[in-house]
Amino acid sequence: MSDLLYRSTRGGDGPITASKAILQGLAKDGGLFVPEKLPTLPVSLKSLAGADYREVAYIVMKEFLTDFTEEELKNCIEKAYDDKFDVKELVPIKKVGGAYHLELFHGATIAFKDMALSILPYFMVTALKKNNIGKEIVILTATSGDTGKAALAGFADVPGTKIIVFYPKDGVSKIQELQMVTQKGDNTAVVGIRGNFDDAQTGVKELFSDRALTALMDAAGLQFSSANSINIGRLVPQVVYYTYAYTTLLARGEIKEGEKINVCVPTGNFGNILAAYYARAMGVPIAKLICASNENKVLFDFFETGVYDKNREFKVTSSPSMDILVSSNLERLIYSCVGEDAAKCKELMDSLKSCGRYEISKDAYAKLSDFFGGYADEAATAARIKEIYEKEGYVMDTHTAVASKVYADYVNRTGDDTKTVLASTASPYKFLTAVLESIGELKCDPSDEFAKVEELHKVTGVEIPGAVKELMGAPVRHTRVCDPDKMKEEVLDILGI
Ligand SMILES: *Cc1c(COP(=O)(O)O)cnc(C)c1O
Repeated sequence: MSDLLYRSTRGGDGPITASKAILQGLAKDGGLFVPEKLPTLPVSLKSLAGADYREVAYIVMKEFLTDFTEEELKNCIEKAYDDKFDVKELVPIKKVGGAYHLELFHGATIAFKDMALSILPYFMVTALKKNNIGKEIVILTATSGDTGKAALAGFADVPGTKIIVFYPKDGVSKIQELQMVTQKGDNTAVVGIRGNFDDAQTGVKELFSDRALTALMDAAGLQFSSANSINIGRLVPQVVYYTYAYTTLLARGEIKEGEKINVCVPTGNFGNILAAYYARAMGVPIAKLICASNENKVLFDFFETGVYDKNREFKVTSSPSMDILVSSNLERLIYSCVGEDAAKCKELMDSLKSCGRYEISKDAYAKLSDFFGGYADEAATAARIKEIYEKEGYVMDTHTAVASKVYADYVNRTGDDTKTVLASTASPYKFLTAVLESIGELKCDPSDEFAKVEELHKVTGVEIPGAVKELMGAPVRHTRVCDPDKMKEEVLDILGI
């Protein structure tokens, strides 16, 4: 069988193998790599019913990463999905508020980005070897909170790699910031930006396309890559979530073979929900893809109107990992809905860059009819955390609560009783102030993170994750802060070039 190849959504890069696309991250023309053809599952979902997460991961990922050998891929999976996770099944599924919560937050940093970022470093190191590249990889990442720590944890002390993370200094939670600035590993660097996530992301994109910088790096034996969710090495591991959810619900007798499910995903950069769309293309019977936004509801507006318009006020909310006005991974859906016409996709993305907006055609819009956009404002999100806690004793984080609220609204509005898998993306211990306030139990000093940890534990009985216990007393190792227009200087200084 010939390899599945990847090319840019804007037509100016590729086709290249999966391992090369993983190393490169972003395409040279600024587009994102997409497979030339979306693969389908080689075995029936029924035959996978009850399979372990790792087994499902192998079946799904080998269809996308065809230039990895069986041994290479299985080795990556074993190293990534091990006892870093605090539960044996890796991803428990619990029925909460009428939906099946897929708890994706049991990894090293208690948010779902661990799922993909635990495996990406091994993909990269394997890809370097496969392609006989003697260079060192420098991971450059902008984060709205969770990616940063998950990437740092994934790459720390992985030989042949360095990692630099930029985050909005005042746009992440205290725990998120603590997690990043205490990161160990000689190959790690963390920089706070005086700006928001979009400033950080735009800055990183500019660094990637800075030719003078690339030449300097090249001379020093270094090569940039991205650990952001635009990397196909981030996207592919996420397709596993929905395949695994389906096969697990089948094994439990919650659904019958072939029965369609809905999925509901709290969305920021559009990576996680795009993975559900790809899982559907692979053959997982998914009816509706419910896209949940917070007050930065640019995606809700897009699914309502076919117009993507980022010209609006940026809001800092209690679900900061969804505080995003440019959802990078949406470009892959756009590419798909314009009939894989790269020139058209490029035109739309150019318009986004120059005017901050684009409008897709009626035909393209019609192809998105299985997406349902919803959003929850701050008050509704808090109320949902309280309601579910009081009714069911289950404590949700703010991001998951946005999805839970949107799911409830969707059911109310449509009466659709299709069984629904809801991506539960973070532990409540990651967003303590908002969670405690929501349930009316913020009694301690709100600036004392560890007092809040104790309080949440005492009040709700939810076990304190190991990842949080570790932070207590950990020394701060990273203190860099800069303006968005000084990111290049920081990178040069960190790399010593
Ligand atoms: C990143 C993140 C999201 C958004 O996921 P995308 O793939 O960017 O859409 C939602 N919740 C949490 C907790 C996150 O960290």
